[in-house]
Amino acid sequence: MVVILRRIKYFMELIVDLHIHSHHSRATSKNSNIEGLYYWAKIKGINVLGTGDFTHPAWFAEMKEKLVMTDEGLYKLKDEITKEIDKTLPQSVRNNLIRFVPTVEISNIYSKGGAVRKLHNVVVAPNLEIAAKINSKLDRIGNLKADGRPILGMDSKHLLQITLDSHPDSLFFPAHIWTPWFAMFGSKSGFNSIKQAFEDLAPEIKVIETGLSSDPYMNWRLDELQKVTVISNSDAHSPQKLGREANILACKPIYKEIIKAIKTNNDDFIGTIEFFPQEGKYHFDGHRLCNISFSPEETKKHKGICPVCHKPLTVGVDYRVGEIADHPESYKPAKHKKVEYIIPLVEIIAQMLGKNVQTKPVWAEYKKIYETLGEEFSILRKISTDEIMKGGFVELARVITRMRRGDVYIEPGYDGVYGVIKFFRNDIERQQAGPQMSLGL
Ligand SMILES: [Zn+2]
Ligand SMILES: [Zn+2]
Ligand SMILES: [Zn+2]
Repeated sequence: MVVILRRIKYFMELIVDLHIHSHHSRATSKNSNIEGLYYWAKIKGINVLGTGDFTHPAWFAEMKEKLVMTDEGLYKLKDEITKEIDKTLPQSVRNNLIRFVPTVEISNIYSKGGAVRKLHNVVVAPNLEIAAKINSKLDRIGNLKADGRPILGMDSKHLLQITLDSHPDSLFFPAHIWTPWFAMFGSKSGFNSIKQAFEDLAPEIKVIETGLSSDPYMNWRLDELQKVTVISNSDAHSPQKLGREANILACKPIYKEIIKAIKTNNDDFIGTIEFFPQEGKYHFDGHRLCNISFSPEETKKHKGICPVCHKPLTVGVDYRVGEIADHPESYKPAKHKKVEYIIPLVEIIAQMLGKNVQTKPVWAEYKKIYETLGEEFSILRKISTDEIMKGGFVELARVITRMRRGDVYIEPGYDGVYGVIKFFRNDIERQQAGPQMSLGL
């Protein structure tokens, strides 16, 4: 019986990514339209995707036109549109279920406690009617048309109150809470506790987002964050980056159940899929222009000052966590949710080929792999390396084994520069690892 239940759970695994952006946000790909998001969610293996940007009138109108509500309280793309897109997708990824929920990220900029605060917060609405209600309130506060991620001069607490008032199944969470410039705990313009940021409404913060530069273990070093659900999302600005981080749920694809699992951190919330936190842009401290990257210890040694330009360093997430954590770096809570580290498949391929991620051969190989083996998350997380090998990708199987073990070399990111995760220390090691990456090359 136990075995059967486990199996049912396995088949019901849902991959959920709630923080993304449409092409109406600044610095995003023009392919971040509904069709592009659907197409790439299929390839990635994401089941429930936030729409992003629901405050933007043009994006809202597009959602109204192209999405339909299902009995499960989730949106799906209209059948006539999916039929056309599905024709262009290989059979290997076509059956993946894709549903949407209305979401938006707001940039809240305001003064509090004698300092300027800049926080990014994400709001999830159960449907477009509730989203419209929220929009009509926010429209009075600032310009919603200028950016898919609007900048509003309002206290984060006020946005939380609007979310709470909108519907019991709406969800609010502070985004990428550790990034220096725009986050609840950011070193430049954040707070030192949820209580400080949200005062009497602090107990209403049930969920926080780790961001790419921190992982759940770093967050659990704070007692306050052990009481909330620690979630992870991609914050993708182009559809190819969907699911860089995501959440694993074990419930049915029903809105109410998904929101309940996330808000209550119940057994249906299995855990998160994570970037190696060092790969994030703000893990270490430093100055990009001065080419200085420091660990927290090195920063302390230099008293926070850049040895090149003699200005204060941009303090990264690792340092910042250490400043306000209750527990040491090695700490892990006795009981906790699952944490799975992945490296995006195109990055793996780029390294194996010794080429840049943006180059054609990398994407051609990526396509060949998902056409043969199925969606990216299955390849990275589920499929046995035997199967990957049988598909003709011998070297890929080896590298994925190393990724799953966490057997990688890491150069941490700092001051806006992404970190680098390497399977091979140098070209010689790469060439020794295998003669070629796939039988077809
Ligand atoms: Zn943000
Ligand atoms: Zn964002
Ligand atoms: Zn400097």
